[in-house]
Amino acid sequence: MKKVLYVDMDNVLTDFPAAIARLPRDVVAAYERKLDEVPGIFADMLPMPHAVESFLDLAERFDTYILSTAPWENPSAWTDKLHWVKRHLGEAGYKRLILTHHKNLNRGDFLVDDRTKNGAGEFAGEHILFGSEKFPDWPAVAGYLRDRDT
Ligand SMILES: [Mg+2]
Repeated sequence: MKKVLYVDMDNVLTDFPAAIARLPRDVVAAYERKLDEVPGIFADMLPMPHAVESFLDLAERFDTYILSTAPWENPSAWTDKLHWVKRHLGEAGYKRLILTHHKNLNRGDFLVDDRTKNGAGEFAGEHILFGSEKFPDWPAVAGYLRDRDT
């Protein structure tokens, strides 16, 4: 049986700061401190460097899911995240998107996440902290997981 791997979206698969940088200045001002509530902000997220190729590779060796939180006050985010997974991950993401504020309730072996919020810090498996010194980027994460699929 394959080991179970969860991968977060924002700042792991998707480049959230790049999307913010493309927003008009008045929108940034109006949504200060709640930029994840900008309508449509999740629609055209760019993938993080090497994120898609790494996910596709890992999805062949792990039972892989996307484990993300969509902002409660941004209904379009829930739809936009589904569209993003379909567009960028295709078959590897088919019916494997889990949107939750309680990531710790999902059972599995690994969670790649850049934060401890929304249950990520209480995940019962191994939390791979994306963006940390040990795991600064996708090549580091993929290299670490390469030998851990059995
Ligand atoms: Mg994140």
